[in-house]
Amino acid sequence: MQVSRLELTDFRNYERLEFTPGAGLNVLVGPNAQGKTNVLEALYTLATTKSHRTSRDTELVRFGAPLARVTAEVQKLGEITSDLELAIGAGGVGTSGKLVKLGGSKQPRLTDLLGHLNAVLFASTDLDIVRGEPDERRRFLNYEISQLSPRYALALAAYRKALEGRNRLLKDFKHGHGDVASLEAWTGPVVEHGAKLIERRQAWLERLTALAAPIHEALTGGLETLHVGYIASFPLTEASIPEAFVAALKAARREETARGVTTLGPQRDDLTFRIGPPGGMLLDARTYGSQGQQRTVALALRLAERQLIEETIGEPPIVLLDDVLSDLDESRRNQIFALSLSGGQTFLTTTDLAPIPLDAVKNARVVTVRQGV
Ligand code: ATP
Ligand code: MG
Repeated sequence: MQVSRLELTDFRNYERLEFTPGAGLNVLVGPNAQGKTNVLEALYTLATTKSHRTSRDTELVRFGAPLARVTAEVQKLGEITSDLELAIGAGGVGTSGKLVKLGGSKQPRLTDLLGHLNAVLFASTDLDIVRGEPDERRRFLNYEISQLSPRYALALAAYRKALEGRNRLLKDFKHGHGDVASLEAWTGPVVEHGAKLIERRQAWLERLTALAAPIHEALTGGLETLHVGYIASFPLTEASIPEAFVAALKAARREETARGVTTLGPQRDDLTFRIGPPGGMLLDARTYGSQGQQRTVALALRLAERQLIEETIGEPPIVLLDDVLSDLDESRRNQIFALSLSGGQTFLTTTDLAPIPLDAVKNARVVTVRQGV
């Protein structure tokens, strides 16, 4: 997969950018605060419909401009080139304020953009997946599964809507005027879509872990292995997930009405990353891992994700490396170059060309970024 052309209009600090990337490594070099990450953010937003840096879309629109536009020409194996366009701030799709065009024609849903461009982003904030709060890990799951599965994204949107409705009613209960029949009416879709999310997360995670464990072992020179676990907010018993969810909600009814909020479900689930010598005792990387160990887990997850996408779609996704070189030692830096450059297009930001292996720079397209130009 390859982005053969990228155009930005009023996106962040770009009034207008027309960029024809190379098929291999693209290096965006320049001093701080010039707009290097903004280019990666535009590509990532096109792949996932959401920025990795902010949930407030208006931040993506250049100060004083009415809307931002990201357009890309994407070439996939065996397919004719597709034109993707995402307008932000246009108020076109529901309440999201984003509008999608494919091949020049308007699409009814934002999720119609998913699956046309796949990207794996490595950023120094990836450390938060390992050591941050549970919502960082849920965001990781939601973003990364959505970009492979528009059905997951649709289930997520439906779940959020149902959860909001159910929580509204629970709040009524808390204030003494709830209606049981309406609560049941919201519980149905909460269970239906929530169970789908949990099932898909578990299936995706199983595949990711199978890839991440050997990568993690290779990164640590065989010294450590990685186990990833899914921690559901209610016991996943022998029963099917919907049945277990219904039973758990029933048991939690008193607490839920007292607190006025749904206390169980995928919005409360978490992941664990446990590391240790192969066959030996495992420690929770979040609480016991050193910064270096946490970084290695995050790197293994991203490298595994790249491989998982390649296995799923049959070609490598684009790889976005945002300022990660300075965080890595030389051997890991080389690993990242070896793996991400084994075919496929890469975009890398850096303030300095020195840490990039010479043979990688030689074949790269290097562009200097200055004040949004
Ligand atoms: P660093 O090396 O520090 O990571 P960078 O080149 O990656 O820098 P970016 O994050 O891409 O920097 O761009 C930051 C610049 O973009 C800042 O100067 C910021 O003021 C500007 N900027 C961010 N959002 C907007 C916006 N909506 N409108 C105009 N300018 C913006
Ligand atoms: Mg940056």
